[in-house]
Amino acid sequence: MFDPKTRTVVIVGAQWGDEGKGKLVDVLAERAGWVVRYQGGANAGHTVHIGDKSFVLHQIPSGILHPGVRCAIGNGVVLDPETLFTEIDELIADGVDVQGRLYVSDRAHLVLPFHKLVDSLSSASREIGTTGRGIGPAYEDKIARRGVRVLDLRHTDRLRKLVEKGVSHANAMLASYGVEDRADVDSTMALLERLALRLLPITEDVGLVIHRAITAGANVLLEGAQGSLLDVDHGTYPFVTSSSTTSGGAAIGTGISPMAIHAALGIVKAYTTRVGNGPLPTELDEPLATRMRTLGNEFGATTGRPRRCGWFDGVVVRYAARINGLTGLAVTKLDVLDSFDRIAICTGYTVGGELHTEFPGDLTALEGAVPNYEWLDGWQSPTGDARVLSDLPVAARKYLDRVESLVETPVTYVSVGTRRDQIIGV
Ligand code: GDP
Repeated sequence: MFDPKTRTVVIVGAQWGDEGKGKLVDVLAERAGWVVRYQGGANAGHTVHIGDKSFVLHQIPSGILHPGVRCAIGNGVVLDPETLFTEIDELIADGVDVQGRLYVSDRAHLVLPFHKLVDSLSSASREIGTTGRGIGPAYEDKIARRGVRVLDLRHTDRLRKLVEKGVSHANAMLASYGVEDRADVDSTMALLERLALRLLPITEDVGLVIHRAITAGANVLLEGAQGSLLDVDHGTYPFVTSSSTTSGGAAIGTGISPMAIHAALGIVKAYTTRVGNGPLPTELDEPLATRMRTLGNEFGATTGRPRRCGWFDGVVVRYAARINGLTGLAVTKLDVLDSFDRIAICTGYTVGGELHTEFPGDLTALEGAVPNYEWLDGWQSPTGDARVLSDLPVAARKYLDRVESLVETPVTYVSVGTRRDQIIGV
C-alpha cells in the first residue's frame, strides 16, 4: 500500500459500516508511522483479533495494537472522555503500551453525559436507530456553536459557562420530550475536572503534528468510522450518522490539506450489511438472512444488535468509489460466502419501471428500488487458508473480477478470515 509516492492513505468504509476497517487498518498499520481517526465517536466499534485475543476499539485507532505506531484522535471526532479512558485502561491491562503513543486533538468536541441523556430519550434517535451514545447531540452542539472542545478544559471559568449553555439546551430538549430526567452543571463539571487531569497531557494540535510527520516522510493512515452510505451528506439521509465519513472528511477531520492525501482504500464486505433503520435494497429474506448473519457473525461490536444482511450491491459500491475517489478496494469476509451454491450481485435497480445504475439521492426512489441481480456460481469450498489469489477457487476469483469490473476499481486486498494473516494482497 505504502510507497514513496503513496504515504498518506485514507481508509473508508464503502458500504454502511462494519466492513472490517479495523482489520485492514491493523494490517496496514504495520508499515505506518501514524494512524489518525477522523470522525465519529464511541458509536463505532472496530474488532481486531490477534492470536486468541480480540480487541474492540471504539475510539482509539486500531494502530495502537502495533508497538511502534503512534495514534491520534482528530478534531472531526466527538470524543467521549469517560469511555476513552476505560478503553485505554483495558488496553494497558492487556499489555498494550499506550504511554506516549496516543494523542487527542485540542479541537475535538466532547461528548458529555447530557448528550447521552438526550440521545437515549429522544424519539428521533430511536427512529433513526442510533446507538444512544450521545454522538448526534454532540455534533448538533458543535454545529450550533455551543459545543465543548478538549482545549476548553484548560480554562475552568470558560468551561463552566459552556457547560451551563449545553446543560440548559439539553434540559430544554428533555422537557420537550416530556421526561423527568435533567442534566446537571455541577456533576458535569466535577466529571470534566477529574478527566482533564488525564486528557490534557495527551492533548495536541493534531493537524500540525500530522503535517510535520508527513513532511518528515512518515506513512500516515487516516481511519474513518462507519461507512460512506452513512455520510451525513452523501448517505441515505436522514438514516445516516452525523459526520462526514467519506474521504473528504478525512482532511477536515484531521486538519491536514486534502492535497496531502495520496490514496483512498475502500473497504467492502463481499456482501452487504446495515445496522439500524433505512433503505437496504438488497436485503435478504429469511431463511437466507439468518444464514448469512450467522455465518458472518453479523452483530454490532458496540451494541450487539443483529445486522441486516443482503447481497453485494454494485450500485452502492460504485457510488462509494466515485465520491471517495477510491484507488483500491479491500474485499473482506469472502469466506462467509464459502458455503453458498449461488451468489447474487446487484448491478442496478428498477424504480417505477426504469433501470437505475447510479445510486439515487432520493430516499423514496431507493425505498421502491427492486434490485437487478446477476447470479454467479458459488465455490462451495473453504477459502480461509488462501494467501495468494491463485489459492482461491476459480468461482471465487470470477466473483472478485465481477466486483472489480462493476465498481470500476481494482481489488487490492481480499480478506478470508478474522485473523491478521488471513489476507491476500493482490
Ligand atoms: P469495522 O468497524 O469496519 O472494523 O468492522 P467490525 O469490526 O464491526 O466488523 C468486522 C468484523 O468482521 C470483525 O469481527 C472482524 O474480525 C471480522 N472480519 C474482518 N475481516 C473478516 C474476514 O475476512 N472474514 C471473517 N469471517 N471475518 C472478518
